[in-house]
Formats: sequence, C-alpha cells, structure tokens
Amino acid sequence: LFKSYTNEYVKETDMELKLGSPMKLEAPKGSNAVLVKNLYLSCDPYMRGRMRDFNRSYMPPFSPGSAVEGLGVSKVVDSDDPNFKKGDFVAGITNWEEYTLIHKTSELRKIQQDDGIPLSYHVGLLGMPGFTAYVGFYEVCAPKKGDYVYVSAASGAVGQLVGQLAKLHGCYVVGSAGTSQKVELLKNKLGFDDAFNYKDELDLESALTRYFPQGIDIYFDNVGGEMLDATLANMRAHGRVAVCGMVSQNTRTDTQSFRNMFSVISKRITIKGFLQSDFIHLYHRFLEDITSYYKEGKIVYIENMNHGLESAPTAFVGLFSGKNVGKQVICVASE
Ligand code: NDP
Repeated sequence: LFKSYTNEYVKETDMELKLGSPMKLEAPKGSNAVLVKNLYLSCDPYMRGRMRDFNRSYMPPFSPGSAVEGLGVSKVVDSDDPNFKKGDFVAGITNWEEYTLIHKTSELRKIQQDDGIPLSYHVGLLGMPGFTAYVGFYEVCAPKKGDYVYVSAASGAVGQLVGQLAKLHGCYVVGSAGTSQKVELLKNKLGFDDAFNYKDELDLESALTRYFPQGIDIYFDNVGGEMLDATLANMRAHGRVAVCGMVSQNTRTDTQSFRNMFSVISKRITIKGFLQSDFIHLYHRFLEDITSYYKEGKIVYIENMNHGLESAPTAFVGLFSGKNVGKQVICVASE
C-alpha cells in the first residue's frame, strides 16, 4: 500500500505490506472486468511524482491507503470481458498486489507468447521504457548517421536501449552511469563506444569535453539538473536535446537554475521535452522493430529482478540511488 505523501527522499516506509481480505478469484458477472494474477511489476521513476500531494507530474497522485498502481505483466484468471480469456497474458496498469480486478480492460495489451521473449520484458524492452527509448531517439532526437550522442542514466531501463539504437544508427555513443560495474556493462555488453562514472567527475562540463572533444549532437537526458547544464555547454551547433526525465530532481522543489542556457541561443540548440504517450500510434511498429532486433541478436536487455511483493518498496526506492543495474522488475509469481 502507499502510505503517505512525501517531498523528501522517498523511503521504504512510505509504503507498507498489508494482508488483504480473502477474495473470490472471479470477475463478477456484468462487470466487464478481468481478474488477473500479477507476475511481474515494474518500478518506474515517474511513480515517485505520484507520491506527492501536489505534483507537476502528468499523472494524478496516489491515494494514501490504496495499493500502489503501476505497470505489470499478469495472467488472466477469470474474465467477464469477451476480449480476454482465462490463461491470457496481459501487460498494462495493475496494482502492487497478488491478484487485481482490472476494470479498464481497453488499456490492457494482450501478449503473444510465441516469440521466445521473456514475459518480464513486456514492462521493459517491449514495454513503456523501451517505447520511450524508441520514440525519444527516432522521433525527438532526429538522429543522423555519424552524430555524436550522449546518454545519461545510460544503463537503466530507457538509456540502455537508446545507446544500442544509436549504435545501430551509425552514431558515436557515450553513456554515463553511477558505478564502475555499470560503466563496464555499457562498454562491454551494451556496445557503447565509451562510458564514464559521473560520480568520479568533479567537473562534469570538462569531463564531457574530454569524452566529446568535437562536441555533442544529441543529448538524451534522463537526469536533468547539473548534468543537463554541463551538457548544454558541450553541444554542437544545431544540436538536439531530448528531455526525457529528471531523475536527479526528485527531492527538489525549487527551480533549477542553469548557467549554460545561453548556449541554446548561440548554438541554436533544440531542447524538446516529450512523453512517450504522445507517440502511442507508433507502438505497433515499435514492437515489430524491437522484437526483430532482439531476435536477430542486434540488441540485448539487462534486467534487475527482485523476488516477492515484499521486496517492492526496497526495489523502488533503489531507483533513486542507482541500486538497479538495468530495468528494475519485481517477480511476484511464476506463471
Ligand atoms: P532507470 O532504470 O535509469 O533507473 C533510474 C536510474 O537513475 C538509477 O539507476 C540511477 O542510475 C539514476 N539516478 C538516480 N538518481 C540520480 C541522480 N541524482 N543523478 C543522476 N542519476 C541518477 O530509470 P528509467 O530508465 O526507467 O528512466 C530514466 C528516465 O526516463 C527517468 O528520468 C524517467 O522519469 C524518464 N522517463 C520518461 C518517460 C517519458 O515519457 N518522458 C517515460 C519513461 C521514463 P546511476 O547509477 O547511473 O546514477
């Protein structure tokens, strides 16, 4: 359950595990709902915004005392909706609980299970984070072969795919992450040209000049704050910044001030914020493209899997100190 709103660092005790009252494992007649058994739950940074009573986010706040709501992969146990039947696997919004009665069935996506792709990837590579990387890179960054691309939070759910897509596109790609283990993964498993630990750098601006002596054409920004400011100073003329997320700003309530905003004028930089949901019409194409890339071995995907519903608060809080190596998922039950 979500307990209470907070403007501080989110803590495990902002959530609590509660034993629910016994329920009938059926979807009531006439409800048009489906009853699902939740298998995999997704931990996503945007959920932090829903833990404030006032938020400037694009999603409404959670209700204290109610189950945490998030994306998941589930198995249909009973259905009163003719579009779903017992045994179907679905991806969509569910609750952080073992069984959930879902009324908004039109927002569920049926998973075709014949493709040899792990089910949990439907909250990662083939889910919202993967889609964010896909539309953010192709639709917002306007990439060209040979572009110099920089990705922050590069080993995470979104960043790891952005880097790999940029490499497939013929770009030069550098990523940053917060541990040496992640830096190794970026260079040796995810195929980035180079990578660095931003926590080892006293001066981010000069670190970026070192990694990009010729400047940056595309910045895929997952973190905001100081890193965005340092990157602006290193952009090339007509560079593009896709503002995807601001995970470094979760506890800030003031307005971040930037020293390098003048670069936006002098270098005619385009800075564009985006929400993956603006591009939902491309979801089918995304599934086809990314499924083929994965099956052809052109991309890989790293997950950080925790087991048991009771591990969910710790896993979620870990996103904001970089505990996750890859996409953070909670396995609640086996199929
Ligand atoms: P990740 O899997 O990357 O997990 C979050 C990571 O952020 C951590 O592992 C950590 O990695 C890094 N991080 C945490 N705190 C800080 C900090 N203070 N400074 C710098 N890095 C930090 O998350 P996602 O890939 O799921 O999400 C990445 C970003 O994309 C988020 O900002 C998210 O809100 C945004 N997003 C936006 C969407 C959109 O439609 N615009 C949709 C989906 C996600 P490290 O060890 O490297 O520090």
